[in-house]
Amino acid sequence: MGIRCGNQVLAPPLEWNPETGEELAHEFVDVGPAGTVREWCWVAEPTAQHPLDHPFAMATITLDGADTSLVHVVDAGSIGAMSTGMRVAPRWRAQRNGHITDVEAFVPGEEPVVPSGDAGPASEPVTMMEYDAEEHYRTPVTRNELRAEEAIREGRFLGLRCPACGRTYTGGKGYCPVDAIELTQEHEVDLPQTGTLTNYTIVTPVQYAGQTETEPFARVHILLDDTDVILNFQPLIEVPNDQIRIGMRLSAVWASEAEAEHADRNQIANLVGWMPTGEPDVEDPDLVNRIN
Ligand SMILES: [Zn+2]
Repeated sequence: MGIRCGNQVLAPPLEWNPETGEELAHEFVDVGPAGTVREWCWVAEPTAQHPLDHPFAMATITLDGADTSLVHVVDAGSIGAMSTGMRVAPRWRAQRNGHITDVEAFVPGEEPVVPSGDAGPASEPVTMMEYDAEEHYRTPVTRNELRAEEAIREGRFLGLRCPACGRTYTGGKGYCPVDAIELTQEHEVDLPQTGTLTNYTIVTPVQYAGQTETEPFARVHILLDDTDVILNFQPLIEVPNDQIRIGMRLSAVWASEAEAEHADRNQIANLVGWMPTGEPDVEDPDLVNRIN
């Protein structure tokens, strides 16, 4: 079904005129069921998230009587059976629920395919549509990250100084993002273990798997001395939340070897946190903006 919008029929129907944003009158028009493929691309190796488990095409399809296209799947069997302008018709699911996935796929030809054992439309009216999505990330660990971790285990912060621009970085993939040159072992420098609190967040813990905190706690951003390096979301030790100030001078506190053994895997292994040095606060109105 499409919806009338001026001289056009939009399918799938929209609630609003896409040009003006005005609400459309509910003037529905039957379209299809067959249509014409406008653009397509062949998916040779479907993943678990694709609608079909064998090779297929993603295509934009203009249903007969419509002026706009919808994106759907064409189960054509082979890439050779696909062409721009080809005619396709829906293959319906046995049980329809009022969702776009009631069309299992479009197939080449003019005739819709209705499965044997057609169960018809579901008797319950549609009141809510749910969309589930899942994403998987694979991030390779770089040599630079391994070396930084090793330094942390030794109670050091590892930095990389770019020979071109002179900036010092920590973390990252081992490249100067400004000059795009690789920074390797020869560019490593030990970073200071003291710094200034530039900004902070008080986190009120909600309970979720892995959350062990029960009381509001602080995470602070620290500008390491004599560098442009900010360490983000660091734990602060022995400072009540209402006494945290931008400009506080802080020093890193490392765990003993025995303590590090029991460290939470999510923490920087043996860095317990940061404690005030007792020096006077740094007065600099720009500090507050240094969070990255
Ligand atoms: Zn650089």
